[in-house]
Amino acid sequence: MFDKILIANRGEIALRILRAAKELGIATVAVHSTADADAMHVRLADESVCIGPPAARDSYLNIPSIIAACEITGADAVHPGYGFLSENARFAEVLAHHQIGFIGPKAQHIRTMGDKIEAKRTAVKLGIPCVPGSEGGVEDADEAKRVAAGIGYPVLVKAAAGGGGRGMKVARTEAELEQAIGMARSEAKAAFGDDAVYLEKYLEKPRHIEVQVLGDGRGNAVHLAERDCSLQRRHQKVWEEGGSPALNESMRAEIGGICANAMKELGYLGAGTVEFLYEDGKFYFIEMNTRIQVEHPVTEMITGIDLVIEQIQVASGGPLSVSQSDIKVEGHAIECRINAEHPETFRPSPGQITHYHTPGGLGVRVDSAAFQGYRIPPHYDSLIGKLIVHGRTRNECLMRLRRALDEFVIDGIDTTLPLFRTLVRNPDVQNGLYDIHWLEHFLDEGG
Ligand code: ADP
Repeated sequence: MFDKILIANRGEIALRILRAAKELGIATVAVHSTADADAMHVRLADESVCIGPPAARDSYLNIPSIIAACEITGADAVHPGYGFLSENARFAEVLAHHQIGFIGPKAQHIRTMGDKIEAKRTAVKLGIPCVPGSEGGVEDADEAKRVAAGIGYPVLVKAAAGGGGRGMKVARTEAELEQAIGMARSEAKAAFGDDAVYLEKYLEKPRHIEVQVLGDGRGNAVHLAERDCSLQRRHQKVWEEGGSPALNESMRAEIGGICANAMKELGYLGAGTVEFLYEDGKFYFIEMNTRIQVEHPVTEMITGIDLVIEQIQVASGGPLSVSQSDIKVEGHAIECRINAEHPETFRPSPGQITHYHTPGGLGVRVDSAAFQGYRIPPHYDSLIGKLIVHGRTRNECLMRLRRALDEFVIDGIDTTLPLFRTLVRNPDVQNGLYDIHWLEHFLDEGG
């Protein structure tokens, strides 16, 4: 087992990793930018190192600074969290070169899944059902038109290097396709430095359903059921729940089994998420994320398994603590992503939290690095906390969530709490009747 873990992240996920390390009796090192000198993850870690100025590219994305911080503190492993360097295969390789453990998948799997064209090729080989689309990338508009004629309009142009919903354009006709290719290419080039694009059938009213997997890197792998992340704004998840209101036990076992078998065949190491769109009873793979995800607590609440502890154990060469037959889904969980944003305009709202009171009671979990007096810096994403609620049934979960949301106080800045208070009372949400476009339509109609 590792002796000392350096946490190459900030905010709530840095705290989440710190908690897992403490429970395992492992020493912790926080790294931080100058903007985060007073942050909670710095206060709670055993040691801390300043790694640069506020801009992420000079601090949290600065590989030489992070390696230097490992060497100064004697950390023998790095947990990258999500975002920042978590899906950077080169970072994993540089760490290996310095004999420092990487708490994440093998570099080759990060690389394969980071290129969505490669990821789909791999998924097909592993027997995972995919969205119909181009075989590989499309070079020009003529090729795109030929492919689109084959799969039928509407089609979606997607960036091979895509992430965060960027570089995605819908085309409903051949005329629109030419323009969509050009726009997706230039957006992808600007965002990722790679303008490769591919085509997919555009599904009109799917749900987003994803399967959590864990592997030991030696051919053992399990699935931990699914999360439904259909409530999205601009392709970003807002509310996640598990299990999906659209699946039953046998559908869960089937898609979960397909994913677990694929991970066994791959020799996948650590935590990962296989993402699907789900429409008319069918699953269509869209991508795989090779990291711990923001919404992982949903799965922890319904399975009782600590995913970060599993990540650390398998990264140090240990076995998974569970086999498939040990994993039972109990009850229902919902997560709300609380952002420092205006609840209607979604304009970021950095600044000082003047009053802060978190809800509690049975089945209520708050993962956050915020506190009274905390000044949210303007340099990073606006997620300030996650409220995760568990109930024996979906209905109990919803009632408990409504109560917990009403208890939560964050004053001094705008947050998305009021949006969740509205959503939890909405009949469509209560009945689980939503697809990936539901929230955008709801917001367009003025909530
Ligand atoms: P990113 O990595 O940028 O998040 P994903 O491939 O995960 O991109 O897709 C993000 C979201 O975009 C999905 O959750 C879904 O809402 C939408 N999306 C992606 N592919 C399709 C598709 N073929 N048809 C309809 N919507 C899609």
